[in-house]
Amino acid sequence: MTEPLVEIKNLRTHFFTDEGVVKAVEDVSLTIPRGKTLGLVGESGCGKSVTALSIIRLISPPGKIVSGSIAFYDDGRKIELTTLPEAEMRKMRGSRIAMIFQEPMTSLNPVFTVGSQIAEAVRLHHRVSSREAWDRAVEMLHKVRIPDAQRRASEYPHHFSGGMRQRVMIAMALSCNPKLLIADEPSTALDVTIQAQVLDLLRDLQTEFGMSILIITHDLGVIAEMADDVCVMYASKVVEYAPVVELFTNPLHPYTRGLFASRPEPGKPKDQKLRTIPGVVPSPLRFPSGCKFHPRCAYAQERCKKEEPVLRRPNLSQIPPSHVVHCHFAEQIEEQEEAAVKSV
Ligand code: SF4
Repeated sequence: MTEPLVEIKNLRTHFFTDEGVVKAVEDVSLTIPRGKTLGLVGESGCGKSVTALSIIRLISPPGKIVSGSIAFYDDGRKIELTTLPEAEMRKMRGSRIAMIFQEPMTSLNPVFTVGSQIAEAVRLHHRVSSREAWDRAVEMLHKVRIPDAQRRASEYPHHFSGGMRQRVMIAMALSCNPKLLIADEPSTALDVTIQAQVLDLLRDLQTEFGMSILIITHDLGVIAEMADDVCVMYASKVVEYAPVVELFTNPLHPYTRGLFASRPEPGKPKDQKLRTIPGVVPSPLRFPSGCKFHPRCAYAQERCKKEEPVLRRPNLSQIPPSHVVHCHFAEQIEEQEEAAVKSV
């Protein structure tokens, strides 16, 4: 088994708003293995980004990590991120943990050249001369395959296309050789060919730098391409967690099944309507009782309305121990679905 780089246990992150407490992340436990990619998938508002921002401790008031542990293993040392003093945490950001976002312009300053912004990030964490930091910036632009990197380092963000700006962000994020890269919807704003190039680039850089990646997306195609393990979130909870091939072969939770069923399938008629999961994600201010998915679940029973399930190994012989699910009736649903397939 691969060693963990980050181990999250029972994380709860809440926002204390005037309307009430928004329980954005509830009891989330997951592991990001060293050198591997964990995919966090789910609809908007399910808690994916807040989980990631909790790791890098960028939760601002009225948000707060209420309880739980986030352990970061650095050269044999276990660092508890939830209690690390802010000055230490600042050093971790960039040098150990870096983050890239969907929209690069939220991180790039329009009035400075891209080279100077990357060089500044390098100088923040390393005692190097301006010349060395600049050379590192050019080297990073070259690594993210920006043609004519030496010249383009002196250009401003608005001189770059969306895909190229995303590469600049990746260059900046990786300039200090972090051990964990958090990529929050890194390719969502890009068209499909540029998206494929950015994902290829991330994979190649992961091999070269040996880093772990936490990739956040609502796109199962991106998960299939990038992730080693997948964590499916719904309404602030982890509802299913498995290695990627296992999850794609045997999705068990009704929500995961719904996500898979709503994908377009090759070979199906173009005018065929996609299936959707009925209803909408509940407001985090008013989560339903019991299983939070019950108002949208085709398999819900009385017990689901009253009793919250636990994340557990299902009692199914074909399912490996690494596959866990948050549903009272995962076994019965699987049997029902198998019987339906056989009867066709
Ligand atoms: Fe559906 Fe009940 Fe399972 Fe929740 S616990 S996913 S409502 S069957």
